[in-house]
Amino acid sequence: QLRSARPTVIPHYTALARLLSTLAILEQREGKLNMSSLAAVTAAQKLGGSITAFVAGSGIKGVAEEAGKAKGIEKVIYVENEAYDRGLAENFAPLLVENIKKNEFTHILAGHSAFGKNLMPRVAALLDTQMVSDITEIKSEDSMALHIVTHSSIDKANPLSPAFVRPIYAGNAILTVQSSDPIKIITVRGTAFSGTALEGGSAELIEGVDPKVECPTTWVSEDLAKSDRPDLATASRVVSGGRGLKSKEEFDRLMPPLADSLGAAIGASRAAVDSGFADNSLQVGQTGKNVAPQLYLCAGISGAIQHLAGMKDSKVIAAINKDADAPIFQVADVGLVGDLFEKVPELTEKLKKA
Ligand code: FAD
Repeated sequence: QLRSARPTVIPHYTALARLLSTLAILEQREGKLNMSSLAAVTAAQKLGGSITAFVAGSGIKGVAEEAGKAKGIEKVIYVENEAYDRGLAENFAPLLVENIKKNEFTHILAGHSAFGKNLMPRVAALLDTQMVSDITEIKSEDSMALHIVTHSSIDKANPLSPAFVRPIYAGNAILTVQSSDPIKIITVRGTAFSGTALEGGSAELIEGVDPKVECPTTWVSEDLAKSDRPDLATASRVVSGGRGLKSKEEFDRLMPPLADSLGAAIGASRAAVDSGFADNSLQVGQTGKNVAPQLYLCAGISGAIQHLAGMKDSKVIAAINKDADAPIFQVADVGLVGDLFEKVPELTEKLKKA
């Protein structure tokens, strides 16, 4: 049904941008807007065209009002129903599809978070369309012109529709893709589209349609790691420990004081997590969190590609490793070859005095 309702192909990107109608899915927890989900709005702003935000849950009008302050958002669709509080994809996906159909959005954006990764493939399946996941860039009109000349992989049948850049093979290759589907379902990498500020806007609030689909999944409980430290995914400084720390005792002895001296979040390699040195929520990398802080300081991490996939966009990378040939030094801006059991306490002391 939706395929038969395809919009006509727009021949020019500027014209296309004017006709884009983008829905940015925002996340909330216990009535509070999840600020990192605003990355979807930032990406929508780069696309151009009109932007509508979407929120659902209980007591949601306050969240909708808050979201409506973001510059560039014209409307916020909200659905008041506690069934959507936990963001279960099984009933959230049909809810979204109903609202997408009603409003004929052309681009649907959500963060590449646990919620977005669970939800958006279901939305794509229900709409019989492909999804484009984990985008890090949207090609602008100018860069598209350049790109078409230099890359033959761009869809020649539809050369001037927006193109999306996304990492593949754990970030070892960067793909530029276009979608000829009438509705584009996209998740955006939060570290590549920093959240928009909640000021300068006054969006219209609209009550959305609620299909009230019965959810086959029951939410039982959650066990969230609580920490007074900055959130790993959004921290401006991260210190990270790997297998080189040898044990949980050493990880706990060396990494928290180093993090405290910098006001940093703590991360870990998968080997450190699998060995039980650090909590799973601290894992950085392909199968962990993506981070892009101002400073990423790591100790006892070799620099496997799967780890680099989650941190190589950091502005400054500093590494401590006793092996001068460790691959981490190929991406590090600052490297210290030495025994971390000496260097980390020494550095911590110096930072405390600085
Ligand atoms: P190692 O590779 O064992 O490196 C330890 C380093 O510590 C070495 O370089 C060593 O020289 C150094 N060292 C040892 N002792 C000292 C000392 N005293 N002083 C200084 N340096 C010392 N990994 C991730 O991190 N994140 C992921 O998300 C992830 N996803 C994966 C997904 C898949 C599908 C697969 C197959 C793998 C994934 N991995 C991931 C695992 C990855 O391949 C590596 O095994 C892992 O990153 C290695 O962690 P490490 O660097 O801590 O350990």
